[in-house]
Amino acid sequence: MKKYVLALDQGTTSSRCIIFDMSNNGALVSSCSQEFKQIFPFEGWVEHDPSEILNSQILAAREAIKRIGISPDQIAAIGITNQRETTLIWDKDTGAPVYNAIVWQCRRTAPVCDKLKNDGCAEIIRKKTGLIPDPYFSATKIKWILDNVPGAYQAAESGKLMFGTVDSWLIYNLTGKKVHATDLSNASRTMLYNINTLSWDEDLLKLFGIPLSMMPQVLPSCNIFGYTDKSIFGAEIPIASVAGDQQAALFGQCCFDMGDAKNTYGTGGFMLMNTGNRPIYSKNGLLTTIAWGIGNDVTYALEGSVFICGAAIQWLRDGLKMFNYAYQSEEIASSVKDSGGVYFVPAFVGLGAPYWDPYARGLIIGITRGTTQSHIVRAVLESMAYQTLDVLKIMEEECDAKMSSLRVDGGASSNNLLMKFQADILNIPIIRPFLVETTAYGVANMAALTMGIYSSLEEIKKVNKIDVSFLPSISDAERTDKLKMWHRAVKKSAGWADDRMLWTD
Ligand code: ADP
Repeated sequence: MKKYVLALDQGTTSSRCIIFDMSNNGALVSSCSQEFKQIFPFEGWVEHDPSEILNSQILAAREAIKRIGISPDQIAAIGITNQRETTLIWDKDTGAPVYNAIVWQCRRTAPVCDKLKNDGCAEIIRKKTGLIPDPYFSATKIKWILDNVPGAYQAAESGKLMFGTVDSWLIYNLTGKKVHATDLSNASRTMLYNINTLSWDEDLLKLFGIPLSMMPQVLPSCNIFGYTDKSIFGAEIPIASVAGDQQAALFGQCCFDMGDAKNTYGTGGFMLMNTGNRPIYSKNGLLTTIAWGIGNDVTYALEGSVFICGAAIQWLRDGLKMFNYAYQSEEIASSVKDSGGVYFVPAFVGLGAPYWDPYARGLIIGITRGTTQSHIVRAVLESMAYQTLDVLKIMEEECDAKMSSLRVDGGASSNNLLMKFQADILNIPIIRPFLVETTAYGVANMAALTMGIYSSLEEIKKVNKIDVSFLPSISDAERTDKLKMWHRAVKKSAGWADDRMLWTD
């Protein structure tokens, strides 16, 4: 019986495969992870070797299959979820990449984005794509390859090159070079896809000098994109879903209704809110994006990110050597009843939404003779919750809605103290799923929906297991007081690295 679904989770530092048994409520039955090389040619540049991306992904899948000894004929479908925005260009005839993959983190095209802003293009880009001009997104990365790889522009002009984000690269190779496609969620991260007309935007393609012939076909996220070539896994398996990682996590958290939101506490923090069948444009620097497409229905989301989340715990561990493992932060912080009036603002690289201050820098304030390491660790954990609150409040304001609960995932969501504090400070329940692998789980559920293993979103919701809910218990007065102090601390961190401030301090 074909009861397994394979989720290929192609991330920034590793390629993973997770196998779910759909005959047993989507239980996780096997997994394997393969790391691959990060290439840093210059300061601020980040690349991946396209063949390493592909080979590590295939290896992880073969190993995960081997670990439970199933035959490829038992696999009902494959779902692909991936690091978003990362850009690849390859030759249409040979399939050979013309350059390394330029990773989402790569800042090499910052000057192009500055120019776009200076030329007054930001508003039109925002209206068409929901994004702000930033090197993150694929458009300027494609342009860089076409401008800098000898002969690339001419080859692209004569229809000899293909562009794709990582999902397209995997689909193309797994189908034996038969399919050049992507899904709506990934397309919406390229800064070339018009999220209103649902088509590649000819004005933007022209602005960046990118021929339409390079672009993949855009399909709904739940869809049969093609079948894997028999030589890869020993069977022709349908690729039945594709979604960018954050969108897949939103789906994995069953945020199917307008107003449902999830927050991921990873290295950085990512909050996505389902805004239903219409894009909501932010006035506060949130991104508007496509969550997924199912049949003819398109679901949109608002996205807000916090630059430093779990990374602050890494800093306590590696920079200040306060403990050896991130999870120890919980025990240390639990040894005190509160942060003892200490506030920490993790503005290591400035502050994002809603402050947008590139010159803010980190600070610890409120220190007295009685301050201990435990108070500082606690203040660092609490800062993750405060930053999450700041993003959530703008989302609520922009959607004119009140969130009734927040679903969470990511490494630091395993910290119970942090989750309890998050509930206290937001004054809503925090819901942590049984399975924190929400990205892989999301795309596996999407594939199951495409294949008819699940017949509806309601059915997926029913099998979803909740691990723990954290409920708020502090008084309104205490909450208001803490928030006031947090916002005072944020103000103190503002503009610190700006030379011009030196004369006005
Ligand atoms: P990413 O996918 O961004 O690499 P993960 O979701 O794997 O991140 O989460 C890792 C981050 O979570 C690290 O920054 C780590 O410091 C933090 N982290 C992991 N476990 C805990 C914990 N128990 N308490 C606090 N932070 C944690």
